[in-house]
Amino acid sequence: MPEIKIDLFSDTMTKPTLEMRRFMCDAEVGDEQKGEDPTVNLLQEMVAELLGKEAALYLPSGTMCNQISIKIHCRPGDEILLDRTAHPLNSEAGGPAALAGAMVQPLQGKRGIFSAEQVKQSIRPITRYQPRTRLVSVEQTSNMGGGTVWPLQTVREVCEVAHRNHLLTHMDGARLLNAVVATQVPAKDFATDFDSAWIDFSKGLGAPVGAALAGSKEFISEAWQWKQRLGGAMRQAGIIAAAGVYALRHHVERLVVDHENARFLAHGLAEFRGTTLDPREVETNIVIFDISKTGRTSQEILERLLAQGLRMSIVSSSRLRAVTHLDISRKDVEVALLIVKKVLTD
Ligand SMILES: *Cc1c(COP(=O)(O)O)cnc(C)c1O
Repeated sequence: MPEIKIDLFSDTMTKPTLEMRRFMCDAEVGDEQKGEDPTVNLLQEMVAELLGKEAALYLPSGTMCNQISIKIHCRPGDEILLDRTAHPLNSEAGGPAALAGAMVQPLQGKRGIFSAEQVKQSIRPITRYQPRTRLVSVEQTSNMGGGTVWPLQTVREVCEVAHRNHLLTHMDGARLLNAVVATQVPAKDFATDFDSAWIDFSKGLGAPVGAALAGSKEFISEAWQWKQRLGGAMRQAGIIAAAGVYALRHHVERLVVDHENARFLAHGLAEFRGTTLDPREVETNIVIFDISKTGRTSQEILERLLAQGLRMSIVSSSRLRAVTHLDISRKDVEVALLIVKKVLTD
């Protein structure tokens, strides 16, 4: 395979910066399982504060944040409402079924965002026959929706309907801070109505690993037991948690750069014959575009891009996804556009 020079596959492709590595190197550490790692404790406090929750728990991945939350919120046979593009439904190896024994009712949102009315229509009546609708999960921003931001008003309405009907609410905030930077709405305000919420450090924030789940003290103490049970409890995890601390201090505001680069990319792509997208729909760092007018499949286009050193990811046979991040400069985007243009005109 030719060398990948520009990697728009995902914002998970970021490598820790030299400054981040230095900060990790100097981290104070202890036994995390015993609550004795000062850096893990600091990171948990920072996230609890950021999300306005009583407590937070450092976990190896966002997937574990979702799965532990679902496990705590749902009994076997319970049903979860989420968008049909949502991560736990498509990218967590069947976790809701395998671990929690939960059913999933996928909602057909608009670019990953569903309405309170849809939630209301989807909550099942309480009868002996039907599963108990138990949890609503919201993905902020919506990844496969194209980095779309859930408006605060929609979040409030969805959570209000859920709680009124005795459902619990969960926010998959893998890219919550992208939404925060794009809207200037504080993270706390987005998180306040959710019973559980988490952020990922290994996406646009640029840390090599880790996520943190937040909620009430009671919820987090249950989450701790699941972390232990699943083998997610670590030892001197401060070494990696330090990357999260560094990222929260230095890599949040700069997400605007990724958003500007994504918009620049989208405007460029929209000019080409063969691509279909509306650049006004690009709100954060994700650009999804259609290539069916090229007469080729996304796989065929991707292979041609790869041959030129540009990587993206496949959303469907007719759509590709490009994600901007810490390791992508404006210059990289300019080169990426030249490569796409070449591939489309060849
Ligand atoms: C990446 C991602 C996850 C999972 O996070 P990991 O840290 O990769 O396990 C969950 N939800 C969304 C929306 C994501 O983009």
